[in-house]
This record gives sequence, structure tokens and C-alpha cells, in this order.
Amino acid sequence: MTAFWTEPDFDDHENVQLVHDRKSGLTAIIALHSTHLGPGAGGTRFWHYPEPKDAMRDALRLSRGMSYKNAMAGLPLGGGKAVILAGKDKAKTSEMLAAFGDAVDALGGRYVTAEDVGISEADMVAVSKRTEFVSGLPVSGEDAAGGDPGPFTAMGIYHGIKAAVLHKMGKDSVKGVHVAIQGTGSVGGGVARLLAHDGAKLTLSDIHEDRAKALAGELGGEFAPADAIMSTACDVFSPNALGAILDDEGIARLEAPIVAGGANNQLARQGHGQKLADRGILYAPDYVINAGGIISVAMEYLCKRHGDPCDINEVRKRIALIPGRLEEIWAESDTSGVSPDVVADRMAQKLIGR
Ligand code: NAD
Repeated sequence: MTAFWTEPDFDDHENVQLVHDRKSGLTAIIALHSTHLGPGAGGTRFWHYPEPKDAMRDALRLSRGMSYKNAMAGLPLGGGKAVILAGKDKAKTSEMLAAFGDAVDALGGRYVTAEDVGISEADMVAVSKRTEFVSGLPVSGEDAAGGDPGPFTAMGIYHGIKAAVLHKMGKDSVKGVHVAIQGTGSVGGGVARLLAHDGAKLTLSDIHEDRAKALAGELGGEFAPADAIMSTACDVFSPNALGAILDDEGIARLEAPIVAGGANNQLARQGHGQKLADRGILYAPDYVINAGGIISVAMEYLCKRHGDPCDINEVRKRIALIPGRLEEIWAESDTSGVSPDVVADRMAQKLIGR
């Protein structure tokens, strides 16, 4: 038996809990990396892992990622994440969700959950029947924080791209700036619309080609096949689909001075941030630039719990702070020669008292 707490991914987690409920068949891991800044907040993933040890690795990495993301977003929240181990058929029952809600509740508010891959808003509503420590629930009214995080994530990335263009190219507008977008779903599509409004030149790509072609047609952009987008000569490459795309081969293919997009865990390994820097490419650390969605979800929760301001303007105000954080990271990186991903990690670690 291998002890997961001796693995590097454990990274001093405060609490890791395996939940098993015989009656419903629920097996889940709840990982709490840090509650230094507040309750550990992060979504629940429902996924089939052919190798159970990969579920533990995922929970630990995602949970640490949430600590860093929440800290750098200036939120009074720590980092946590839950993983529900789905069977091969990915069958999900209301009994499982109820048992999961009970497990979250038993932590007494040290962990706050929300949606992640495989978990819908309706699933969270089911969980919320057993515990109050839930966010990402349906909101009423257009001016309320919360609801679908995608548009808020896109807003933060749009601001981040503008900051990167200013830092690297000295331009205070994205008019005429060529942005190649990988993935035109909720986030990438939103980024494309915001940039198009400012007159950016767009090349769009998605494995669902019709989606990218339709958006390119609507916004007056170009379409590129999925296997060509990373080598498109442009000013900004914006990854908004998959993680781990910035590996040795991916970095070698880039023809852009800036990488700024919303996909989680873009760097395949530690060291790839330095490889980008060695090629003179400015990188916007993913968990800093893509924090718009968590800011909205967090405001929804904090408003419900503590009466914090929860109107959409408060969310927008906080999202508008993302460029300043990126600028701080890039300035420190320029001075120290340390790549921006490592600078961001160090800042986040300091914020969580490590
Ligand atoms: P989404 O499912 O709405 O969109 C993803 C799009 O990427 C889809 O259209 C899909 O067809 C496309 N895609 C998948 N593989 C591709 C490939 N190889 N090449 C080109 N396109 C490909 O998801 P989303 O909510 O837009 O999230 C996109 C990324 O941003 C994910 O990595 C997600 O983890 C991250 N993220 C999302 C949010 C959010 O608020 N939704 C917040 C933070 C981070």
C-alpha cells in the first residue's frame, strides 16, 4: 500500500477524507489544502478514474490549485476540492448526492463545494438540500452575483489579455491585435466576443469545427483547424480548452509573443513556464487570469453567509483587479528573471502562510 501523504502532490494538505457510503454506493475524496484564508472552497468533480490512485492525485492537485487561485483572487477563502469516483457507466443517483451533501455538512463549513466537471447546477441543488456549504446555485435577477461562471471568467481573461498586450507590445488597445483562440465554448466564445467588440483580429478554433466557424462568421474572424491553432502566427495565443497543452512540443510550435487564456493547468510540467520565458513569450499564469468565475461564485456564497455585497458591480470591480495582479507578477519576473508561473506560485504561497 502506498502512502499518498508521502507523495509530492500531498503538499501539506490539512485534511484529506475518503467518504464511503455503502447504501448509496458513494465513494468520494474531499481534499482540504489550506483554510488559512477561510473555508476551503472548490468544486466537486464527478469522474470515472480507471486507476483509483489518479482520483487521489486529481483531488490533491485541484485542491492546491484552488488555494492558489482563491488567494491570488483576493478572496477570503482557502482551497479544497472534492472528487466523486464514478463507475464506468458514470451513473449518478440522488442517494449518492445526498450522501455527499452529508459528508460536506459533517465538515461544518471547513469545505464549501460547487460545480466542476460532471456536476450540474441541478446536482448542486440536490447537494444543497443536505448542507448549506454550497455555492453555484441558481440565482435570480440579472444583477446578482453567481450563476454561470463562464461569462465572468471570460471577462477576467479579456482584461488580462489587454494588460498583456500593454506590457509586451506597449499598446493600450487591442484594436488590430491578432488573437488566436483555442476553444470557443463558454469561456473562449465569451473572450472572442469581448475582443471583437474592441476591434481585435481573431482566429478561432474548436474541435467542434461548426462552433468555431459559426462564431468566426458572426464576429468577422478567421477559422483555423484544431491542429493548426497553436502554430498560428499571431500576437496572442489564448488557450481556452484543454490543460497541459504547453509541453515541449506545444511551446516549440508557438508563433506568438503572448500566451493568455483561461484553460486550467496549461503548463504540462513545472519548468515549462521557464521554457516560455526562454523563448521570450509572456505568460499569464492560468489561475490568476481565469479567476473571474470563482470571484462570482465566491461572492454569491459570501453574500449568502455574511451579507457581503453581492451585486454584479462588486463582482466586476473585483475582476477588474486581475490585470493589476498580472502586472505585479510580470514586473517581479522582469526584475528577478524568475518565470511568471513561479513568481505567481511564490506569491500565492506567501498569502496562504507557507
Ligand atoms: P466548454 O466546454 O464550454 O468549452 C470548451 C471548448 O473547447 C469546447 O467548445 C470544446 O469543443 C473545445 N475543445 C476541446 N478540446 C479542444 C481542442 N483540442 N482544440 C480546440 N478546442 C477544443 O468549457 P469552458 O467552460 O469554456 O472552459 C474552458 C476551459 O477553461 C477549461 O479548461 C476550464 O477548466 C477552464 N475554466 C473554465 C472556467 C469557467 O468559468 N467555465 C473557469 C476557470 C477555468
